[in-house]
Amino acid sequence: MQNVPKVSKFQAILHSKCPKCREGNIFVSPLLSTNFAQTHTNCPNCGVQFEREPSFWSGAMYIGYAFSVALCGFCFVFLNVFFDDAPLSYYIGMIMPLVLLMIPVNFRYSRTIFLYLMGDIKYQDTEDSVKLRRKAQL
Ligand SMILES: [Zn+2]
Repeated sequence: MQNVPKVSKFQAILHSKCPKCREGNIFVSPLLSTNFAQTHTNCPNCGVQFEREPSFWSGAMYIGYAFSVALCGFCFVFLNVFFDDAPLSYYIGMIMPLVLLMIPVNFRYSRTIFLYLMGDIKYQDTEDSVKLRRKAQL
């Protein structure tokens, strides 16, 4: 059997899974919890180190910034389409709560995408999961 992943890269990013095994969680707690930002230092499944170098995660801020700008752009277009000449308070009233509510999502996906883009970690099937899939096929 070739090294065909059972979980696609998109699914792994969507569920914040390790880029190497695509089974271990990158984050300790679920998205909607008070410590949503706590990140595993190593994959609980395969042991790969997530923080590739000191202050590796600071690069994820650029992706988080891009997410926030995209969100603001969406709000701007939405208000211009549905409100004729909306006052500034409408923009502030819509953008500020939305950006604040999206902080956990923005934080986690910016880190996950940054790890996949800049982490230099290639997908590698673990021997256990290969054996399990072979057994399932028999
Ligand atoms: Zn892993």
